[in-house]
Amino acid sequence: MDNTFVVDEDCDYLFKTVLIGDSAVGKSNLLSRFAKDEFYLDSKPTIGVEFAYRNTKVGDKIVKAQIWDTAGQERFRAITSSYYRGALGAMLVYDITRRGTFENVKKWLHELREFGNRDMVIVLVGNKSDLTDLREVDVEDAQKLAQVENLCFMETSAKDNLNVEDAFLQMITKIYDIASQKSL
Ligand code: GDP
Repeated sequence: MDNTFVVDEDCDYLFKTVLIGDSAVGKSNLLSRFAKDEFYLDSKPTIGVEFAYRNTKVGDKIVKAQIWDTAGQERFRAITSSYYRGALGAMLVYDITRRGTFENVKKWLHELREFGNRDMVIVLVGNKSDLTDLREVDVEDAQKLAQVENLCFMETSAKDNLNVEDAFLQMITKIYDIASQKSL
């Protein structure tokens, strides 16, 4: 799906987004939470990614987001440029209980900007907000980074289903706004 903003049969718009971030920060759990029963999981064994679709209503339009998950490939540093190609949005996830995963956000941002669409919408997500006693990343630090890097930011808990819907919807709505402006 290289041509970025496509009109499909069962929706008004279709576009690709990606999940990225260190291993075990909760990417797969966030995706299955968001996709719930309105989705189907699929995979591209050749490149090892998994993805899900979810239809969302934005205004009077039906927008279908194809959301790619790394399927653990970041563990082996095996993410290639094809993973990012054509993506209009990215959810960059870290784990609020592991400082190192937050330190690595800059590295992932660099990759996104190198291989991704220039005006890609990026949402920074601090996951596992339910684990307050184990917190190693302050909300203020993430807010500061988001401001400097021009990202949306939200903390989520895939486990308790906190802000998961909001984080994805924020990304999807923003992509829709930008892309529909362009195609006017
Ligand atoms: P991925 O490698 O980034 O796709 O991470 P996974 O979705 O496989 O999650 C890694 C581990 O973190 C699993 O044991 C999950 O059960 C756990 N996990 C994911 N999200 C949360 C969360 O919001 N809260 C807590 N407490 N655990 C989570």
